[in-house]
Amino acid sequence: MTARYISTRGETPPLAFSDAVITGLAPDGGLLLPETIPDLSSELSKLRILSYKELCLRIMRPLVDIPDDILGKMITESYSTFRSDEITPIVPVKDLFILELFHGPTLAFKDVALQFLGNLFEYLNEQHSSELNILGATSGDTGSAAIQGVRSKKRIRIFVLHPNERISRVQKLQMTSVLDDNVFNIALQGTFDDCQSVMKEIFRDLEFKEKYSLGSINSINWARILAQIVYYFYGAFRTMDITGADKVSFAVPTGNFGDIFAGYMAVRMGLPVKHLYLATNENDILSRFFNTGTYSLGSVHKTLSPSMDIQVASNLERYLYYRCGQNSSHLRDLMACFAGKGSIVLDDKPGDGLDDLLVADSVVKEDMLSTIRDFYREADYILDPHTAVGVTVALRNVKQDIPTICLATAHPAKFEMAIKLALGKNAAHHDIIDKLEGLPSRCEVLPADSRVVKEYIRKACL
Ligand SMILES: *Cc1c(COP(=O)(O)O)cnc(C)c1O
Repeated sequence: MTARYISTRGETPPLAFSDAVITGLAPDGGLLLPETIPDLSSELSKLRILSYKELCLRIMRPLVDIPDDILGKMITESYSTFRSDEITPIVPVKDLFILELFHGPTLAFKDVALQFLGNLFEYLNEQHSSELNILGATSGDTGSAAIQGVRSKKRIRIFVLHPNERISRVQKLQMTSVLDDNVFNIALQGTFDDCQSVMKEIFRDLEFKEKYSLGSINSINWARILAQIVYYFYGAFRTMDITGADKVSFAVPTGNFGDIFAGYMAVRMGLPVKHLYLATNENDILSRFFNTGTYSLGSVHKTLSPSMDIQVASNLERYLYYRCGQNSSHLRDLMACFAGKGSIVLDDKPGDGLDDLLVADSVVKEDMLSTIRDFYREADYILDPHTAVGVTVALRNVKQDIPTICLATAHPAKFEMAIKLALGKNAAHHDIIDKLEGLPSRCEVLPADSRVVKEYIRKACL
């Protein structure tokens, strides 16, 4: 018996895993979740001795309808691109445990999910003799991880829109230096918002969407969450090995609520966790929500941790569904209110004992920079600005009896400017970034006009 997937909005009949992955968003507009959550709490001691890949297979197995041998191969292939045998190693630094999630091809944690998703898409296409054209908009990091996930894959093309001249040089090169035939980088003459609205307009053209089998790789896809659950177990087990503790906490730098939701699922599957610290930068809409019960949209501030500069946290709906006691009609009311008024108000205050698992806090630039400085001076360890936001929140809450694991979501070499600001010099380097300089690249500059982009896609598919 494998899990079926239901929509948070309750108006879609249950789907098989493969359909859930291909659909992304449920037809009723909701997000997909497993109908029943596997309970692994009685097997923790057995899981604890597994390697990352073995653990991955064991955790995914009850949630995926792919034969074990094929799934196993897919996992092996997906993580063979990581530069650490442990895939996501734990590094004790000062009183904390850093879970390094940046050993994949683009040096960001998104590789953990997107390397797997690329192989999964390839397999599903083969099974259904279908093709997939992925269309995405990026302000930088997701684009390169998605491109690395599907480059050179059969029956898949990827079109990534980024705002021309508005992303960093490194970010641009990480995308445009991938020269595989199935990769199309498009620099739109406009802002990131223009990229997103062009993308949404194209997805709204259902005839076009159908004809070109357009798919999306954004973090509402269940397979991305699934792949991320694994490192919560792995990180907890390694930290328990080191400390002898039987419970841990996690600090998670948060934007779209995808990563921390994977942690929330790990807890529901039986991982013993005291707290999930939700850390935001100045875009603190989520931390205000968890402290006051009110979620209300503001405007996006540009910060040194750009992958967390988000107002609408698209995965929050999954959490709200559980918060509403899995009552879809209550959830639909909340989402309708959000669509109408731009705000959600919970009757009960999250964090007021009702959900003491999640503890939220926000971090301003100066505090984030001094955390980077302190870690460098005292432990010779360089945090990237996203990770530093999480670490700052962890330090504010550290408890001696419960070890705290901080998710390191990117390698610092990706964020030269923040590191220079913090340390007065560019002390973080990585071969992958250094070698980008001078590589040949390919990119099409187009006006921010959905008709022009559609025409470009049409021609590329000929
Ligand atoms: C995407 C990203 C985040 C935020 O993760 P969410 O799943 O959107 O909450 C944090 N740090 C880095 C480096 C990222 O790329």
